[in-house]
Amino acid sequence: MIEKPPMTVLLCGPRGFCAGVDRAIQIVVLALKKYGAPVYVRHEIVHNRYVVEGLEAKGAVFVDTLSEIPETGQPVIFSAHGVPKSVPEAAKKRNLKFLDATCPLVSKVHKQALLHLKRGRHVLLIGHQGHPEVIGTMGQLPPGTVSLVETVGDADNFQAKNGQSLGYVTQTTLSVDDTADIITRLKERFTDLAAPSAESICYATTNRQEAVKAAAPGCDFFFVVGAPNSSNSRRLVEVAERSGAKRAMLVQNENEIPWDEIDERMKIGISAGASAPEVLIEAILESFKSRFNAAIELAETTVEDEEFLVMRELRQTPLEGSDMAFVNGAL
Ligand code: SF4
Repeated sequence: MIEKPPMTVLLCGPRGFCAGVDRAIQIVVLALKKYGAPVYVRHEIVHNRYVVEGLEAKGAVFVDTLSEIPETGQPVIFSAHGVPKSVPEAAKKRNLKFLDATCPLVSKVHKQALLHLKRGRHVLLIGHQGHPEVIGTMGQLPPGTVSLVETVGDADNFQAKNGQSLGYVTQTTLSVDDTADIITRLKERFTDLAAPSAESICYATTNRQEAVKAAAPGCDFFFVVGAPNSSNSRRLVEVAERSGAKRAMLVQNENEIPWDEIDERMKIGISAGASAPEVLIEAILESFKSRFNAAIELAETTVEDEEFLVMRELRQTPLEGSDMAFVNGAL
């Protein structure tokens, strides 16, 4: 028998599903159980193809706009990223039943933005143009009352109107360090800039970035499991590179790992974005074990116990067996 070469794989913790993603997936699964198929979902419920395809197999129908939904008593679910105010309004006009799976931490940012507005401030939203969460947050506010700031350069160039007071909020899934740089620059220019009363970048984003920062130094290759359109996953790749990993890349599954570039002398790091189910990480670890005598070391910086309840109308529906495993990312 040929001995497999030894290798160390550092597995970050926390990684993968956060409480908001878990809640959003639960809402779709429970709605399917309660109302039967089809249940409509506006946009990817979370940014992960594996999850979306799993829900499609159970009877969810994903749509880009409400106009694609036929006259029906079946519910439509809004994704974890949040939606502009116009979306529930349009659903009401069409008498569509809707369930809002917006993460409570995104809703909190919406409230903070509205509070700035109520206090007479123009809102600066730090985030990435075109991301569904940014579209949803901007869509809480009347046109002309919010400006998007994506970079330190945007912070330099933003022109406030005479006497205008300003307040900021941020997308929940940004780089903690980049965002701090942007806020510092804004505060240098606008000394009375009002902060939100609570941090906008969420606990899951912060914890995953901290874990990657701790594990990445000395890694030859660092893999982040996540989708190309997942903001928090892409930020983890950047954090790994900046924290000392020689190479870092986003992979959706084990087939995207460049196995011919990996050898036993390498130290490997692995993490996963908040929308990546554990089953994909397990498959990658199994692939390492099949090629190497891989010792998996848990590199854990904190333990999370956050849990967000689903809406009252779904709480009585039992979640068991394979549905439970799917919601937990284990299937
Ligand atoms: S990443 Fe943060 S804001 Fe987004 S769903 Fe998870 S907990 Fe909520």
